[in-house]
Order: sequence, then structure tokens, then C-alpha cells
Amino acid sequence: VEFQPTDLNAVVTDAAAIVEHQLGIAKIRIERDLGSELPRFNGSGNQIQQVLMNLMLNAQQAMKGEPGEVRLTTRQLEDGALELRVSDTGPGMPKEVRDRIFEPFFTTKPSGEGTGLGLSVSYRIIEDHGGQIRVESEPGEGATFVITLPQHQAVV
Ligand code: ADP
Ligand code: MG
Repeated sequence: VEFQPTDLNAVVTDAAAIVEHQLGIAKIRIERDLGSELPRFNGSGNQIQQVLMNLMLNAQQAMKGEPGEVRLTTRQLEDGALELRVSDTGPGMPKEVRDRIFEPFFTTKPSGEGTGLGLSVSYRIIEDHGGQIRVESEPGEGATFVITLPQHQAVV
């Protein structure tokens, strides 16, 4: 896969547009809170889009038909890195689940409904970009996935 300087907000906007209709039918609103004048990251827009789709689809499935919200936030951190947050108003998860969600084949979904691969693949993609992904969640308080990506460094 070719890595190139990529606009994070454009990737987020595209991913949101792709799932917005499906989430709308499920009564889930997508809120965007995108930072202005963000630097680009070095990477694959397609792969980061795939990560976003995994996270938004998981949020939809976690909400099990209840109305809710998925919030997409981008900003630049003090150290220059880019931060992307995907948070939902779903049921959240207990520590026993939280500690294992990035393991391949870990799923809490009925057999046939979940492969347990979405988050392990997402973890690998973010790692390949030199970034980090973690989750913050408590039962009853939704889930927030936090991704950081290094900003693109121009070679001088
Ligand atoms: P799958 O979706 O096939 O189960 P994933 O790797 O995408 O596999 O997710 C693993 C598990 O993480 C899910 O089965 C679920 O228990 C938990 N999970 C992921 N996202 C959320 C979320 N937004 N809210 C609550 N639980 C989640
Ligand atoms: Mg999944």
C-alpha cells in the first residue's frame, strides 16, 4: 500500500458520508467536530477509512436498535500528533471485555454475527501508521475510541 500525505478530515468526511444513510435508518445521528487547519498524516486514506467504518459499524451494532449518536472529533495535540476520536452513546463495556477487544477473534456477538476481527485489523492498521489506538469505556457510559497519528514530516 502506498503511503502519502493525507487529509484526515477528508477521510473522516468520506467515511461518515458512506455510513450516514444506514445509521440514519437505525436512528443514529453522526456528529462531526473537525479541527481546522490540521496538518496531514503520512498514510493510506483507504486504510484509515476502513478503521472508521469498523468503529462506526461496531457502534451501530452495540446500540442494538436504540437511537443514539456517534461523534467524530479531530484535533491536533500539543506534541503535533493528530487525534481522532470516535465516541458513541451505546451501552459501553466492562473491563473484562475492554481488555480483550483488540485480540483477533475476540467477539461478544452471537456466532455467525461477529468475526472478532474488525478491531484487531484496525489495531494493526494504526500500528502500521506509527500511531496508537485505545478505548475508554465504562458500562452504561458509551465507548470512545481514541486514535493518534503522527503528522506528516516533510523531508528537507
Ligand atoms: P466483532 O464486531 O466481529 O465482534 P470487533 O473486533 O469489531 O469484532 O469487536 C470486538 C468486540 O468489541 C465486540 O464483539 C464488542 O464486544 C466490543 N465492542 C467493539 N466496539 C464496541 C462499542 N462501540 N461498544 C461496545 N462494545 C464494543
Ligand atoms: Mg466489528
